[in-house]
Amino acid sequence: MKFGLPYDVPPIEDITDQLPKHPTKTWGRRKFDEVENLIVHHMASEAPLANQAKYHITAHDWPGIAYSLCVDGNRLVQTNDLLAYTTHARGANHNSIGISIRGDLSKRSMTTVERQMLYAGILLVKSIWPNIKIKAHNEVSATSCPCTDINLIRAEVAELALHIEEQQQYEQTLSATRIQAYAAAERVQALYDHYNDPRWSVAAEIKLMWLAEITGYNTPKDIAERVLWLYQEAQGGKFQNEAVRKLLLIADVMKQRGLL
Ligand SMILES: [Zn+2]
Repeated sequence: MKFGLPYDVPPIEDITDQLPKHPTKTWGRRKFDEVENLIVHHMASEAPLANQAKYHITAHDWPGIAYSLCVDGNRLVQTNDLLAYTTHARGANHNSIGISIRGDLSKRSMTTVERQMLYAGILLVKSIWPNIKIKAHNEVSATSCPCTDINLIRAEVAELALHIEEQQQYEQTLSATRIQAYAAAERVQALYDHYNDPRWSVAAEIKLMWLAEITGYNTPKDIAERVLWLYQEAQGGKFQNEAVRKLLLIADVMKQRGLL
């Protein structure tokens, strides 16, 4: 899982079926469009997730753990279907998903890794519901949970979302640029094939020679070999960026000459 994040996140693990469950009760379901909020919790305890689930079952008589996503140390886990109607935040359960950090944040701060997992989880949910609002449990219910600065979380998630957006745009531009560079090289390859065919040789030579100045070579063979070397480099060689840049200059000349 990466989402274009500036750090690596291990793949999310779905442990829904591994956690203790109420013997008879099951969560209801909500509709996709009903989801409006993603509510951040802490568990107020460092105990393992299985214990948290048991506590929700025995102390609250709930069907299972109430959170849908949990930050469990250095991993992000799914603990309920995102459409399960769970009871994690009184007054807001009907339209919210719960994400919770295992730990007591009233006694310690979130670690860097936990924060990274939390943000990955929030961004995962935002990739499904782009307009979902990130809220702290204490913004919808009378509680101290999650004992961490929600404004910082919102600001840093917004910053990461922007980073991801820019990364995706950059990659799109990059791939568009490469497609253009490759097209120029492939056109030169076709011209060189024609140059080597006696039926088309003369016409192809004239066209290849239009690229003499930009490539710095003086024979159709040298020009073509130079361009094809650039093509090879542009597809992942040591001089990839430089080769793409040079092919784009060649593509410009080819466009001026009507070769592209
Ligand atoms: Zn909470």
